[in-house]
Amino acid sequence: MEKTIAVIRGDGIGPEIVEQALRILRRVEARFGHRFTYEDVWMGGCAIDRYGSSLPDEMLEKARQADAVLLGAVGGPKWDGVSKENRPERGLLRLRAGLGLYANLRPAQIFPQLAAASPLREDIVARGIDFLIVRELTGGIYFGEHRTEEKDGETSATDVLSYSEKEIRRIARQGFEAARKRRHKLCSVDKANVLDSSRLWRKTVTEMAADYPDVEVSHMYVDNCAMQIVRNPAQFDVIVTENMFGDILSDEASMITGSIGMIPSASLGEGGRGMYEPIHGSAPDIAGQDIANPIGTILSAAMLLRYSLNLAQEADAVEAAVAAVLEEGWRTADICAPGAEPVGCMKMGELIAEHI
Ligand code: NAD
Repeated sequence: MEKTIAVIRGDGIGPEIVEQALRILRRVEARFGHRFTYEDVWMGGCAIDRYGSSLPDEMLEKARQADAVLLGAVGGPKWDGVSKENRPERGLLRLRAGLGLYANLRPAQIFPQLAAASPLREDIVARGIDFLIVRELTGGIYFGEHRTEEKDGETSATDVLSYSEKEIRRIARQGFEAARKRRHKLCSVDKANVLDSSRLWRKTVTEMAADYPDVEVSHMYVDNCAMQIVRNPAQFDVIVTENMFGDILSDEASMITGSIGMIPSASLGEGGRGMYEPIHGSAPDIAGQDIANPIGTILSAAMLLRYSLNLAQEADAVEAAVAAVLEEGWRTADICAPGAEPVGCMKMGELIAEHI
């Protein structure tokens, strides 16, 4: 398979962690006989320094032309004084909009070797945590009308939450398809006892279930879901939900896994287009010291293989290599037990590559 991957190294630890993810992708190429072309795309603070813009138009175009985008992280205190319109994070928002990314996929997975890092009780973690949140990214209350009014000396504020059936179908399809790639269970999360938008959501998902007889569908209210994620996370395979509920639930889900450096994410658009990045930021406090954990970025590369390139076997191989290295006891500083000897970012990448 020949594919083009746009690579955004970004700022802070971005270049270090992306380098290790590239090492893994090169290993996958050699091992499975593919050819990937890597196109460097400049975005974030480094692009401001070099081009005066956090995402120059030609860089956006390069990302658009690629089959998938791999991103480290952007931002840092160096660019705090830059005007709001040109902040590093603005580049990221422009890129998401420019690529039409409407679905955010965030796995919550705990490697048994790191179970102690979870704030949940041991017996709950022992049942296993391995689910995926599919969150709608471009609609709902964040994108509805926002208004603040003064009337009769009283201030009131309104935010509009609206979804069309078309938007719901589009994201629900991502949920069903993701479930098909996993354990064939989909939980649709809404607040249909109160909200009209949720009632339409539930009706639409229920109708679509007929097209996916191999996927077991359930529905859950968002408040109950927030409880179930800490009470019995093992029950979930794929959760699909609207923008704001997904925002909150995905942060809760990443918290229960206990380690920010380990979690990947994918943002998907039409036609398999996708951007893949770890959930953490550019960690300027540890940049340039070869101590960052590259696993979140390496697992993002695995998601890239699975979701944009449809290379499930290759993605499995990367995930298995991460598990094997953890099983052997290797740890970066952020996940290391007190007193144990951590390995650096480069070494961790090398070890994982050797297991593919
Ligand atoms: P952060 O995620 O960068 O760091 C939070 C803490 O986690 C820090 O102590 C850091 O050292 C640690 N950490 C993060 N990733 C790690 C890793 N891979 N290995 C080991 N330790 C890791 O969050 P922050 O400090 O709030 O933000 C720093 C910068 O990143 C800010 O400029 C922020 O705007 C930006 N940011 C970017 C993105 C993105 O690019 N998508 C996301 C979040 C924050």
